[in-house]
Amino acid sequence: MNASKKAVVVGAGFGGLALAIRLQASGMQTTLLEKRDKPGGRAYVYEDQGFVFDAGPTVITDPSCIEELFTAAGKRIEDYVEMLPVAPFYRLCWEDGSFFDYANDQEALDRQIHARNPLDVAGYQRFLAYSKAVFEEGYVKLGTIPFLSFRDMIGAGPQLARLQAWRSVYSMVSRFVRDEQLRQAFSFHSLLVGGNPFATSSIYTLIHALERRWGVWFPRGGTGALVKALVRLFEDIGGRIELNAPVARIEVNGTATGARVSGVRLEDGRLFAADAVASNADVVHTYGSLLGQHPRGVSEAASLGRKRFSNSLFVLYFGLDHHHSQLQHHTVCFGPRYRGLIDEIFKGDTLAEDFSRYLHAPCVTDPSLAPPCCGSHYVLAPVPHLGNAPIDWEVEGPLYRDRIFDYLEKRYMPGLRSQLVTSRIFTPFDFRDQLNAHVGSAFSLEPILTQSAWFRPHNRDKELANLYLVGAGTHPGAGVPGVIGSAKATAGLMIEEALA
Ligand SMILES: Cc1cc2nc3c(=O)[nH]c(=O)nc-3n(C[C@H](O)[C@H](O)[C@H](O)COP(=O)(O)OP(=O)(O)OC[C@H]3O[C@@H](n4cnc5c(N)ncnc54)[C@H](O)[C@@H]3O)c2cc1C
Repeated sequence: MNASKKAVVVGAGFGGLALAIRLQASGMQTTLLEKRDKPGGRAYVYEDQGFVFDAGPTVITDPSCIEELFTAAGKRIEDYVEMLPVAPFYRLCWEDGSFFDYANDQEALDRQIHARNPLDVAGYQRFLAYSKAVFEEGYVKLGTIPFLSFRDMIGAGPQLARLQAWRSVYSMVSRFVRDEQLRQAFSFHSLLVGGNPFATSSIYTLIHALERRWGVWFPRGGTGALVKALVRLFEDIGGRIELNAPVARIEVNGTATGARVSGVRLEDGRLFAADAVASNADVVHTYGSLLGQHPRGVSEAASLGRKRFSNSLFVLYFGLDHHHSQLQHHTVCFGPRYRGLIDEIFKGDTLAEDFSRYLHAPCVTDPSLAPPCCGSHYVLAPVPHLGNAPIDWEVEGPLYRDRIFDYLEKRYMPGLRSQLVTSRIFTPFDFRDQLNAHVGSAFSLEPILTQSAWFRPHNRDKELANLYLVGAGTHPGAGVPGVIGSAKATAGLMIEEALA
C-alpha cells in the first residue's frame, strides 16, 4: 500500500526493531541501520567459551506487545521464538538473611506478607487495586498514543490527578504497606526503567500490575533469541538490516521552519534517501550529533542537555564451571541502605561504598546458555551517570568488579572465585562510547512526571515533520514494553503520514 515510500530507522534496539517491523508490514520499504556488529542495542549478546550472556534486558513482561508485532506482520510468534514462564518472578533478598519470593501466587504472597506484618495483607490488596487502576490508565490507554500536543496532556490530567500521579512510587506504596522491606519490594520496580522510586511518579507502580497480569517471561535461548526472532521476522517480510552501519548525520533539506529530512548519511559516506527517518539512537546523540549541522538539532540538544537523565549501570558478566542450584533466575540483593543509596546513585558525585544489585542466573530457566553443569550470570549495580560523577571507570571498573565478586561469594555464591571461567564488564564509559548514550545513562531521560508524556521528546519532531523518534528517550519511555509501545505510537504517525 505504501510500497513507493521509503523509511530509514537508525538503531536496532527493541524500539527500532519493533518500529521497522510495523513500517515494513504496512508496506513501507524499510531499512534498519545499526552501528554495532549485532542488533539488539542494550539487548546485545556476548558469547565466550560456550557461555551466552544477554547484555541487558532479562525480565520480559507483557508478551502480548511482542506477539502483536508478529500478528501485524501476518506471522505466528510460535514459529520464531519460545517464551518460557519464570517463577518466582524474583527473589528479593536482604542482608539480615530474610527474603521474599515475589510470584504470581496470591496465597504464597499473602503467607509471606502476613509473616512480616498481618496488617499488610489487606494493605497489599489495596496497593494492587491502585496499581491495576494506574495500569489501565497509564499503560493500556496512554502507553501507545503519541503526546504531540499539550491538549493531549490536559486530556489525561483528571485521571493523573485522581491517581495522585504527583506522589512518588515509594510514598504511594508506603500509604498501603507498613513493613519497610515490603515497601522496598513493591517500590524498586521503577529502577528497572531508570526511575528513582523516591522521585518518579507513582504512575510507575503500574509495572507491578503489569507483571501480575501477564507474568514474567524468558525466551528460550535468552533475550538474544528474541532479538534474532524479530530480525528474522523483519527480513521475512522484506525488510533490510545493515549492521556495522553507523549513521553520521541526518540530511535535511533547508534550514528554515518547514524543512524536511531527506535521508541519512553513514560514516563511510553512503547515503540512504528516505521519505521518513526515525531515530532509535539516544535522543541527545540524535539532535546533537546526527542533526548537529541544523539549527533544530543545536537548539533541541541544548534543551535536552538541561534535563535530568537516569542513572547508569555497572554490569559484570561471568561464567562459572558450577551450577548454583540455590539461586533463582532473578534475584534482587538489597544492600544495607535503600533511600540513602538511591539518593547517592541519582544525585551523588562518587561511588557509594555499599551497593544493591540484581543478579541474573538464566540457566535456572534455560541450561543451554552455558556448557553442561556450568552457569552464565550477570550482576548489575546502579551507579551515578557520568554527568554527576566523573568516575574514571578504566581504573574503578576492575576494582568494582572485585568488590562485587567478594560480596557475591560471601553472601550468595560460595566458591565463586575458584569456579570462574570467564568474565567481562560494561561500565558507564561503554554506555557512552558503544551506545552513544548521553552521560552514559542506561535508560535515557529520567522518568519523572515533568519529563513524561507530552513533556518527553515527542514521537515526531515538532519542526522537522518527517523526523521521528522511537525508544527509551521518547514516549512512553524505557523498558522493553515501553520502547515497543513507543514503536506502536511512532508507527501510527509514520503510516498515517505515508498514506496522506
Ligand atoms: C543492563 C540492563 C538491563 C535491563 N533490564 C531490563 C529488563 O530486565 N526488562 C526491561 O523491560 N528493560 C530492561 N532494561 C531496559 C531496556 O533494555 C531498554 O530500555 C531498552 O532495551 C532500550 O531500547 P531502545 O529501543 O531505546 O534502544 P537501545 O537498546 O538503546 O538501542 C539503540 C541502538 O541505536 C544504535 N545507535 C546509536 N547511535 C547510532 C548511530 N549513530 N548509527 C546507528 N546506530 C546507532 C545503538 O548501537 C543501539 O543498538 C535494561 C537495560 C539495561 C542497560
